[in-house]
Amino acid sequence: MNQYQKILALLKEHYPNAKIILNYSNNWELLVAVVLSAQCTDIRVNLVTQQLFRKYKTLNDYINANMQEFENDIRSTGFFRHKAKSILASAKIILDKYKGEIPKTMIEILTLPGIARKSANVILGNAYGVVEGIAVDTHVIRLSQRIGFSKNKDPLKIEKDLMKLFDKGDWFKLAFLLIDHGRSICQAKKPKCQECFLNNICPSAFAFPNFKG
Ligand code: SF4
Repeated sequence: MNQYQKILALLKEHYPNAKIILNYSNNWELLVAVVLSAQCTDIRVNLVTQQLFRKYKTLNDYINANMQEFENDIRSTGFFRHKAKSILASAKIILDKYKGEIPKTMIEILTLPGIARKSANVILGNAYGVVEGIAVDTHVIRLSQRIGFSKNKDPLKIEKDLMKLFDKGDWFKLAFLLIDHGRSICQAKKPKCQECFLNNICPSAFAFPNFKG
């Protein structure tokens, strides 16, 4: 087992329940929640979608929504104008072009407004178990660099590095494991290296002036 495999095994051991924490009850709601989660915490998104999914139940409810009213409904997630435009336009495309179903391939799903590769990976994996890559968010970027998985800064290059290091069967889980570790221990400003179970293997352990135990 190489050191990357050891790290993966430790992450799996410590975060056996790592998974998406956005709430949704169908694939369309998953897409809506993922779009809203850009530059916003999952907790805030879950608060907003609790009301939103009660108010807008079907794809047609979104297609017929009033843009300004919808913007207000999602305002607290930030970038609400852009997100509202993307979600309402996607609803129409999905109904007209994909018979009401979220597309199942990377190429197709990337044609939807507001869906970039990270979101596409999250949606395809959670909706259909289709894994074409690894969802690289801010936690995955930071931890990949710190733990030594990648020297790159660009998310697409980091994703490629991770895809080379790990088996395809681990790609889907890996992002959620890194996100959980980033949230609880390897935080952006104050990584808790003292209490981190990777501190004897991580090249960045105790490298931060303000690390805290
Ligand atoms: S040892 Fe420190 S830098 Fe490395 S993963 Fe743990 S918390 Fe992050």
